[in-house]
Amino acid sequence: MTSPTDPFRVVVVGAGFAGTATAVQLLRAWRGGPLELTLLERSGRFGPGVAFSTPDAQHLLNVNAAGMSALPDAPRDFLDWLHARDTYAHAGTFAPRVAYGAYLQELLAQTAANAAGEVVFTRSRDEAVRIVDGGATVLTRSGAALPADAVVLAVGVNRPRTPPGAGPELLDHPGYVADPWDHDRIAALADRDRVLIVGSGLTMIDVAMSLCPGDGGPELIALSRRGVLPRAHHAEPPAHVRPFRPPTGPLTADRLAAHVENAALAEVAAGGDWRSVVDGVRPYTQQLWQSLPLGEQARFLARHARRWEIHRHRMAPGVAERLRTLRDEGRLSLRAGSLQRLDPAADGGIDALYKTADGVEALHVDAVVNCTGPDPSPGADGDPLLSNLIADRLGRAGPLGLGLDTDADGQLCDCDGHPSGNLFTLGALRRGQLWETTAVPEIRLQAADLANLLAARGAALCAERAAAA
Ligand SMILES: Cc1cc2nc3c(=O)[nH]c(=O)nc-3n(C[C@H](O)[C@H](O)[C@H](O)COP(=O)(O)OP(=O)(O)OC[C@H]3O[C@@H](n4cnc5c(N)ncnc54)[C@H](O)[C@@H]3O)c2cc1C
Repeated sequence: MTSPTDPFRVVVVGAGFAGTATAVQLLRAWRGGPLELTLLERSGRFGPGVAFSTPDAQHLLNVNAAGMSALPDAPRDFLDWLHARDTYAHAGTFAPRVAYGAYLQELLAQTAANAAGEVVFTRSRDEAVRIVDGGATVLTRSGAALPADAVVLAVGVNRPRTPPGAGPELLDHPGYVADPWDHDRIAALADRDRVLIVGSGLTMIDVAMSLCPGDGGPELIALSRRGVLPRAHHAEPPAHVRPFRPPTGPLTADRLAAHVENAALAEVAAGGDWRSVVDGVRPYTQQLWQSLPLGEQARFLARHARRWEIHRHRMAPGVAERLRTLRDEGRLSLRAGSLQRLDPAADGGIDALYKTADGVEALHVDAVVNCTGPDPSPGADGDPLLSNLIADRLGRAGPLGLGLDTDADGQLCDCDGHPSGNLFTLGALRRGQLWETTAVPEIRLQAADLANLLAARGAALCAERAAAA
């Protein structure tokens, strides 16, 4: 039974960037009758999420300040916020991620304080563990049952998958860190002699920065299949972005990769910067992904994705400089190989075996950090909410097992592929449909679109309830 005074109830699960931006946009867009908006966050930190809650000021944003506004309709919002606190900051500044977390917290608090109309906004430190009643109730770890007209899953990414050859004894080893974003566990490794980091992407770089802040710190060995690092931004952004022209004819993964590579080579040959070509492709990546048949998407992931990612997700210039110093001083080395085994050693350390082009190599270290990147399958890390969602047939894995299956609005599709009606997601869980959907410039647009959709739905529902009374 509903009454004309019943509010439109929205539960947003997760208050990292995606959940926070959705809540902010819904509070700004709401023009209807009564709204009850609940933001659930298990960590109790509303705003920063995993990416922006690092306490380490050496961890910088990998997009400059001009590109990091949370609000697509106010592109200078973050830049102005930053400049008000640091007069040296400018459009090309790569700010500490901790500052961005503070910006998000303030933006949420201010938007909530200014919310117009009959709005009840609740921030709750709790964890959603199951969705029941066909999506109309969210059950939480504390035992609450929250009624919802719409639920937004803004839960971010899984923890990395356990590396190959790591048995259960290794997982309990005090020197093994399964979660590279557990800053206390990373800090506790600073007095070890030798640490193996599995992976050589941006997360490995964060760990290296934290473990070797000054002259000290352990010897670091980063192992990944290709042994390559992400590329760096220039201190000055490219003077122009080269407009992208897609290849003509049927699109395949190989043709697309060759087309972008050739455009970058031509740009460099003409005295330009390959970054302007990569940045020019960015607005088209979702469209290009959707134009590839499923088999070609799989081929792109297997053959070309890593190369694209190291050029597209670049590190800040200051970080690149520090990394160069660590490598020049022999404190960080890169190895190319695939991990075969990780075993606790008799002396309390860890023995690693990895295969290279020349054979199998052994390594003895004091600790291992898993930086292999998030596991893309929903619920793979045992998260109860997503595991239950799939078991209860309210959702299913997205194309190629990436994230969840959604429609064009981010509405979840159930186990038979039918739109759920009231369950939505954004960000990394839409990877199967959009592929590039993990950074602020993509997620802020999704949050604004989703909030507008919910505001329109809520206004219609409130009007319907009032008319039926
Ligand atoms: C280390 C790192 C650095 C990055 N740097 C940049 C950058 O510089 N620029 C950029 O554009 N992008 C960056 N990114 C990409 C970044 O992931 C996105 O920009 C964005 O922060 C993702 O936000 P999210 O809300 O989707 O996920 P998250 O930040 O992971 O937030 C999800 C939140 O949901 C909560 N949660 C999960 N499950 C539940 C549950 N069942 N109940 C309650 N709460 C739950 C979690 O506690 C978490 O706080 C970075 C990513 C990482 C991991």
